[in-house]
Amino acid sequence: MESYHCPRCAGRNVGRVGSGQFYCWDCFIEFAVSWRGVRMYQVGIDGELSRIDGESGVEGVST
Ligand SMILES: [Zn+2]
Repeated sequence: MESYHCPRCAGRNVGRVGSGQFYCWDCFIEFAVSWRGVRMYQVGIDGELSRIDGESGVEGVST
């Protein structure tokens, strides 16, 4: 059984929303886990995801 914690708050209040995608109920962010690392997204009121520049799993996109 896989268990993930939030990349932002390191909390365990995380729910799975898709394949490799999770949602933190504490930060209200969605994050996707892949072999590259972790990407974080902010969920807008219209359900649109916007990328959060995270400290972990940055994939060659600099500043
Ligand atoms: Zn969190």
